[in-house]
Amino acid sequence: LTEPDSGSVFSLAVDIGGTKMEVAFIDVEGNLFKSIEKHYVPFDDDCIADPDRMIELLHPYLQQAGQLPGRFMGIGLSVCGNIDRKSGDAILCPNLGWRYLPFGKMVGETFGVPVYAATDVRMAAQAEAVWGNAKGLRNFAWATIGTGFGGYLFLNGELFEGSHGFAGNFGHNTLDEIHGRRCGCGLKGCFESFAAGPAIARAGQAAVDAGKSTMLAELAGDGKVATYMVFKAEVAGDPAAKEIIDSMVRLYAISFAGLVNILDLDMIVVGGGVTRGSSDLITRIDARTRDYLMTVEARRDLKIVREAFPNSALYGAAATVFVESGLITLDIDKKRGSP
Ligand SMILES: [Zn+2]
Repeated sequence: LTEPDSGSVFSLAVDIGGTKMEVAFIDVEGNLFKSIEKHYVPFDDDCIADPDRMIELLHPYLQQAGQLPGRFMGIGLSVCGNIDRKSGDAILCPNLGWRYLPFGKMVGETFGVPVYAATDVRMAAQAEAVWGNAKGLRNFAWATIGTGFGGYLFLNGELFEGSHGFAGNFGHNTLDEIHGRRCGCGLKGCFESFAAGPAIARAGQAAVDAGKSTMLAELAGDGKVATYMVFKAEVAGDPAAKEIIDSMVRLYAISFAGLVNILDLDMIVVGGGVTRGSSDLITRIDARTRDYLMTVEARRDLKIVREAFPNSALYGAAATVFVESGLITLDIDKKRGSP
């Protein structure tokens, strides 16, 4: 934590997830002023996140921003879903029940300060590029394994959004549409439907239903198997749980190696709730990914690391304010190879 003074330059970072909303003041060096504060996302009776109540939750922070010493640069909004970062409109956020909601504009008009909104995976990649593990690198991917599976790309020294802003959706590449289930995106058999947190929980439940794991059955008690229970059972030596996690590691490895074979990346930074379920998951993914890499150079140079921040998307929301307002420029030599 840093004490703000008259020389401080800071922004208000907001990360809106499917259930929780995190808020923090972060300065231009990437330091927190106070601890990260958490709120529940206010939903109405129809399971639609209420933007007006969200804005109400932000009021006290804007009051504080006016009282803190130093220079307040604006608000960075990280949102789970597809956001048009030029207009700040929420195009499609299934977890919030939003479609074409001008949320960025609503926040900007309420508080009269600059607002920069973008999808959470883009924000997370921004944080890693500016202050995190990928600082100075030319080509990397951000990957998240949580309720969903996906990421964002940083190519040739810049965040890469593709033609419609949808680049990096590797979790929705098809793995097996014949045996796979319908995914939240509408397709069948996406990697996400086999590999994200809910798939781990489902596999654990299937092991219990088939009588293959008394340990998972005990952990679940009267309820259903949750993702964290599968990791817990594996650490405790349960063979069925180990089989499930091993099969997940294989899927992440195939997916990541596919990215590297196509894009020749320097690094994959991995975050998301599922990675916190196990201390060695990233190491295992790293080792297994090498089995599927085409070149000896990639096998030698590729790094797979954990995210640098407790919540990279939140830090990236702050970093984006500084980058978009021209206070931070990334120092990357685009002509030469990466260091
Ligand atoms: Zn999908």
